[in-house]
Amino acid sequence: MQSINSSSITTFCVIVGTIILLVVFIIIVLYREGKQKLIAKRTEIVKEYSKKYQKIKQINGQYPFSPLQQQYRIAKNCKTKQEFDKTDIDTILCSDISDNLAEYKQLLNSVIRNQNQYELYNKDFNICLYEITDEDKELYLKWDFFDEYEEKLCEELRQKPITELIVKVEKEYYSPKGRNHYRACSVFDTKEIIAHYKEARLHSEFDYIFKTSYYKNDNRRDPIPPSMRYDIMKRDGFRCVLCGASAQDGVKLHIDHILPVSKGGVTEPSNLRTLCDKCNLGKGAKYDPYGFN
Ligand SMILES: [Zn+2]
Repeated sequence: MQSINSSSITTFCVIVGTIILLVVFIIIVLYREGKQKLIAKRTEIVKEYSKKYQKIKQINGQYPFSPLQQQYRIAKNCKTKQEFDKTDIDTILCSDISDNLAEYKQLLNSVIRNQNQYELYNKDFNICLYEITDEDKELYLKWDFFDEYEEKLCEELRQKPITELIVKVEKEYYSPKGRNHYRACSVFDTKEIIAHYKEARLHSEFDYIFKTSYYKNDNRRDPIPPSMRYDIMKRDGFRCVLCGASAQDGVKLHIDHILPVSKGGVTEPSNLRTLCDKCNLGKGAKYDPYGFN
């Protein structure tokens, strides 16, 4: 008798508990739905009436930022451990830049344009967002939620363009059968990429000069090692030391022996200088035994 009683009490409690839980659940669902509907309705009102919101949409249209990736990645898979050890991460980046000069130029231009535009954009955006006109005030009086919603919706419209060129450079080596895995990486920012890009561009100009130089097939002349040619040009600022012309002025630059080889001049930095083709020809015509003209 007693056991039946206690079991029916238990059943009763379970039923009542379930009903309470169900009711609480329904209340929560309804409350959430109601809240969502309210938010949706308020959002609609702000989008329709807010002058700021419409103005900001218009500002966004005036600033089309270049689409860029957060980060670019260069990876080199080394075939041997020795290659992995020998490969310098800086060098991987430099050769990638040299191979893709035009692409890097475009990327850098886009990043710099984005940087400049972003500054102007933010100024316009903030003026629009924080200046309150009488028209705005009327809206704020009419709807108490208006300014809070407006600010949130406007912030959502704020463009966040990529204003840094970030390149991650990796080198990797998997030993046979994948027993060992070596990996190293570095991340470069815009400033570093620009420095590397400038260097690579100078190299490419130099390669061009070297390939088209009439010294190329001149076997009588003491050949100047390419790295020394580059060092001399760099030392002289990639300009003719006599007239100051550079490749941008349409001249070809040569490395000249101050004291000619035929007169016993040596191929050493102290006896070398950068000359443009015009000055170099002038020198040849006048012929100065010591080359100081
Ligand atoms: Zn010159």
